[in-house]
Amino acid sequence: MGQRSDCCNAKVKIVGETDPHYVCRRCKQVCHVIMKVRQEWGLDPSTKIIPAKKRNKRTRLTPKEEREIMRDLLY
Ligand SMILES: [Zn+2]
Repeated sequence: MGQRSDCCNAKVKIVGETDPHYVCRRCKQVCHVIMKVRQEWGLDPSTKIIPAKKRNKRTRLTPKEEREIMRDLLY
């Protein structure tokens, strides 16, 4: 999903049950698909870029902090 044809950068569909291949929805030609993994080709595995983990940054205040802020606002 989310794959785009190499020719038109259009959506593709998969055709064929025994030999599945992508067909470009725009020009109706059998096409290659732009894969995200292509960007990693040729990279040494040791230098492979690992996406930074989504930082689990706590944005919510603790009830104690909330009370302190409310108190600061009120007084
Ligand atoms: Zn195409």
